[in-house]
Amino acid sequence: MKRILFFFSLAVLVTFASSCNREEAPDNIILLIGDGMSFAHVQAGILASETPLNIEQFRHIGFIHTSAADDFVTDSGAAGTALATGVKTNNGFIGMDPDGNPVKSILHLASENRLSTGVVVSCAVTHATPAAFIAHQPSRNMTEEIALDFLDSGVDVFIGGGRNHFENRQDGRNLLEELEAMGYQMAYSMEDVMAVSSGRLAGLVAAGHPPKYSEGRGDMLPSGTEAAINILGNNPEGFFLMVEGAQIDWGGHDNDVEYIVNEMLDFDRAVGKALEFARNDGNTLVIVTSDHDTGGMALHGFDGDTREITAGFTTGGHTGLMQPVFAWGPGADAFMGIYDNTGVFDRMLAAFGFSRN
Ligand code: MG
Ligand code: ZN
Repeated sequence: MKRILFFFSLAVLVTFASSCNREEAPDNIILLIGDGMSFAHVQAGILASETPLNIEQFRHIGFIHTSAADDFVTDSGAAGTALATGVKTNNGFIGMDPDGNPVKSILHLASENRLSTGVVVSCAVTHATPAAFIAHQPSRNMTEEIALDFLDSGVDVFIGGGRNHFENRQDGRNLLEELEAMGYQMAYSMEDVMAVSSGRLAGLVAAGHPPKYSEGRGDMLPSGTEAAINILGNNPEGFFLMVEGAQIDWGGHDNDVEYIVNEMLDFDRAVGKALEFARNDGNTLVIVTSDHDTGGMALHGFDGDTREITAGFTTGGHTGLMQPVFAWGPGADAFMGIYDNTGVFDRMLAAFGFSRN
């Protein structure tokens, strides 16, 4: 009996030790959000591409419900806030609960825990999705206030458009000069962004939103992702990086399959940069998800020779459809199943081993 007990305790000990294994606790998390990237958008990208997408490499897959606190159909403000902070809020809100109280994002918490942090987006950095990780405002339209919140956010690297909201302001402040005085390296082109390999970086590569991929944006999203990882990876404590493929949503609003596919493939190349780093690093959790469906797209036909997709749309807005979550690396198992969008934050927090305050 004693002998059996001994082996039983040993088994418990071994199980406990392996569940605390270093491999299950990542140093770094890269969260990539395809705005409006529902199942049909992912599939359209897969069908249009002659080679497998990076996103097809994921094995740990889940679904999230996306509703806002005040509506079944969410906007990117409420959905971004749920993913970033774990709190359901009203449509249009940024980093605030439904009562208007500011809530900390995973980026703020990572920064407070001495990790390096970054955001890379194919829209203005002040737009709803990145704003949810950085700012606390009752309206996503308060772009100048959101720009000002960057200065208090602790973010180390940000790359995207929206330079106007930092320099041509109602309050007359020049936040570009203020950021530079705070020690940020300023970059206004992707060439300048790619030249930075350490320290803090404000990469504002367009006055407003960067153009569509099909209209000359180039590889700013995948290259920006690579640049950010390169800089943030210098911190031995680890990093949190949010990357957004913002314009998948805009293709959905336009009910434009070609726009969706181009943006989807661009986003997938950014996913490829994250996976490449994670594979070499071994301590990085990569999560790919969407904030909501845009367009209610269904795929009705596909020509295997021309790779032409025939699709129908149910709306020019968003829908309440569940959204996919793909996870890769230490802690990826936790992202399987069906849960609320706030659960993405909860699982990231647990993976980092942080508490909310
Ligand atoms: Mg967005
Ligand atoms: Zn939208």
